[in-house]
Amino acid sequence: MIFDTHLHTKVSADSEMQITEALTRARELKLGLIVTEHMDFDYPDPSFIFDPQAYFTEYASYRSESLLLGVEIGMQESCYEKSRALAEENQFDYVIGSIHLLEHTGDIYYPAFYGNRLKQEVYSIYFKTMADSVKQYSFIDALGHIDYIARYAPYAEPEIYYHEFAEQIDEVLQALITHDTVIELNTRRLGDRSVIKSLAPIYKRYYDLGGRYVTLGSDAHKMVDIGSHFTAAKELSEWCNLKMVYFKNRRMQYV
Ligand SMILES: [Zn+2]
Ligand SMILES: [Zn+2]
Repeated sequence: MIFDTHLHTKVSADSEMQITEALTRARELKLGLIVTEHMDFDYPDPSFIFDPQAYFTEYASYRSESLLLGVEIGMQESCYEKSRALAEENQFDYVIGSIHLLEHTGDIYYPAFYGNRLKQEVYSIYFKTMADSVKQYSFIDALGHIDYIARYAPYAEPEIYYHEFAEQIDEVLQALITHDTVIELNTRRLGDRSVIKSLAPIYKRYYDLGGRYVTLGSDAHKMVDIGSHFTAAKELSEWCNLKMVYFKNRRMQYV
């Protein structure tokens, strides 16, 4: 069974989805699900934090072979210890590590963060922060949305082209391989063929450097987005020779 390994329900501050809605949609699509709620310690706004015990208690009756419970940790240097303890002390099936903030206060989501800075400068910081975080957070199972910044950056051409940032992207991919951390293929933007074209060389490079596995995640915050663009994602994974996997009880499972 293929799993959508990245989605948010009402436990995350930016989602109102009910777990029952997620399950209904997953059954229609014949997908397994891993719920991955936001845990961003040291975020300027403390709302991206949840109580893990309340989460496990509330969703215990829904947990099954096809509904697993994970977390998406926002990686920052300052909250490494808290994040590691969270992952160690709780029975998550899966831990995603993601970059949502840069330089402690810069939220990639907001245009103000970019100011007058050029893409080359901002994206270089983004990849450097990501590589450093992957090295520091060696306990995570997968790196979330490597292309996150391209969702929000207010540049005429926000897309990530491997050849523009080859050295920086290689450092991220090499760190993933060294630490046995899987790369996520975030499917949110794959409805656009040009996005697939720009991401393909990055995932191909991951394979060439020794990476073998990929998780597929829609990053759905609403029912309608669960499993979005999974056909394109499967094609892209196969084209890159990457095997689709998911995690249960922190162990990699083959699809
Ligand atoms: Zn995220
Ligand atoms: Zn997410």
